Amino acid sequence: MSDSTPLNIWSDPTPNEIGNSVKDFLNHLGGPVWIDVTGRDQSRCRVVTTLLHGNEPSGTKALYQFLKSRTVPAVNMHFLVCSVEAALTTPEFSNRHLPGKPDMNRCFRPPFDSQEGKIAERIIQRLQTLAPEAVVDIHNTSGSGPDFTVTSHLTDDHQNLAARLSSRLIYTGIKLGSLMEIELGIPVITLEAGGSWDLEADQTAMKAIQCLTEQDDLFAPVSGRKVALYAHPMRLEVLSGTTLDYGTEKSPDTDMTLHRDIEHQNFGVTAGNTALGWMNEQSIERLMVRDYDGKNLVREMFYIKDGELFTACDLRLFMVTTRPRIALSDCLFYLVKA
Ligand SMILES: [Zn+2]
Repeated sequence: MSDSTPLNIWSDPTPNEIGNSVKDFLNHLGGPVWIDVTGRDQSRCRVVTTLLHGNEPSGTKALYQFLKSRTVPAVNMHFLVCSVEAALTTPEFSNRHLPGKPDMNRCFRPPFDSQEGKIAERIIQRLQTLAPEAVVDIHNTSGSGPDFTVTSHLTDDHQNLAARLSSRLIYTGIKLGSLMEIELGIPVITLEAGGSWDLEADQTAMKAIQCLTEQDDLFAPVSGRKVALYAHPMRLEVLSGTTLDYGTEKSPDTDMTLHRDIEHQNFGVTAGNTALGWMNEQSIERLMVRDYDGKNLVREMFYIKDGELFTACDLRLFMVTTRPRIALSDCLFYLVKA
């Protein structure tokens, strides 16, 4: 594949052609592929992207079901299944990205010099050419927890589209190089459908694809749906080189240990003075909660007492993971003051 070759496009695959299982389907694709499905109204189109992270299967499963159902969508649909190789690297659906390669959903900004960056650039080019009404990027959260949407713009269209997909909306200006940050002049929304192995997450992704393929107007107000808005979350990150474990007591071998059941804090209010784990006083220097000016606010949000880590004020935590590798390379969780 040369640098300028567009990604493969598969138009209107029949249920027989996509194989007998999601794994079959991915083996057929072999790499990032656009799947185009012709709709009733061919003057408009919408885009659904998924599997940017190889360990987040709900969107792909939902797409597979949709293609099997042979439903004709309301408008032309363009589905992107992205990190197929990472997903198929054994054990399947366990690799967020290929070992030693960058995270695909951090590559949607220049320079597009890695292989993943080049794929991102081609995705952006096709999105610009397609000029869809909306783009929805379906993910799973790394931990277990409820579904939510994420947006970097907050127009009525963004909010009304998001309200169709989830009852929780996160509005963030954090720039990470994710697909959602691409400026297309139309709503680009991330749907975090819930944990990778939660049946509910598969259902949420299916409902999203159903909504995006069936509804004529994605931007009319949704009556009776109350959406909880979480504005400007920050990330709790750790300095590289830190060691981390999850458990029910302090691990003797790591800089910090977080409670194994910390995922239960997802989206609820975590009151001030709640213990989250164990670390020694000096290790708080390893934690960062950067505001938009890059100032570290960790000591406003957390404190250490007798070797335990506590919240210093009422917080709402979300995208809490219990996987050390993801926590260390991405973040422990997102937070807003409650
Ligand atoms: Zn993801």
